[in-house]
Amino acid sequence: MSDFNKDLSIIISLYNEEESLPELLRWIEEVMDRENFSYEVIMVDDGSTDNSWKLIKELSEKNSSIRGISFRRNYGKSAALFHGFKAAAGRVVVTMDADLQDSPDEIPELYEMIKEGGYDLVSGYKMNRSQGDPLSKTIPTKLFNATTRMVSGIHNLHDFNCGLKAYRRKVIKSIEVYGEMHRYIPILAKHAGFKRIGEKVVQHQERKYGVSKFGWERMIKGYLDLLSVMFMSKLSASTSKP
Ligand code: UDP
Ligand code: MG
Repeated sequence: MSDFNKDLSIIISLYNEEESLPELLRWIEEVMDRENFSYEVIMVDDGSTDNSWKLIKELSEKNSSIRGISFRRNYGKSAALFHGFKAAAGRVVVTMDADLQDSPDEIPELYEMIKEGGYDLVSGYKMNRSQGDPLSKTIPTKLFNATTRMVSGIHNLHDFNCGLKAYRRKVIKSIEVYGEMHRYIPILAKHAGFKRIGEKVVQHQERKYGVSKFGWERMIKGYLDLLSVMFMSKLSASTSKP
């Protein structure tokens, strides 16, 4: 089968996630086999200093649907996703985190929403997050999402930063993601002309192993990037006028 006929590309950006990887990939394989999907998993190792890359090589030897991309140093989640997007060949592209917080069981429904539901992009919504996460994380998150909804005009998304998202292939081939812009992919997609943006409530678990790789400074970086996303979008809108 030519790669471009694959149902799914699953892109996972990771930084020092050795404890989670075997379990995560077993779970993905189980779902893919059960649903009979043709797929590829693209693991983007964002400069891990633990055994993550060694594990990815071992796992990809056992399952030829698993591929790895390795960065020499830590470039950040946006750069990792962007390289994954460049490599992806599936008709539907799903991104997810490596830390087992996102459930592979959500993939079939996300796939259907793109394939049959007509969406260009479907973003996960970790609605029950407050049960697992501390207030110091949920309050800034609410504020961040409210601002982003207001500024972007994408009023139906509650959780822009959810790692679990699904895209029609041409969406991810039309956008460039860098800096901390992974939080704003729906905005980039909207400005690239993809208007059918939806949401799906997804299961969300507490981090089982390791620690979060982002601290509170994510808020500041996040807001600065929101400004630049909006500025660039306005600029491209005004320069593209006849
Ligand atoms: N990650 C990455 N590069 C980084 C930081 C994080 O690829 O520089 C990955 C990380 O390994 C995980 C995902 O991005 O798979 C989300 O990160 P994390 O779980 O630390 O964020 P949180 O869930 O706390 O928002
Ligand atoms: Mg996480």
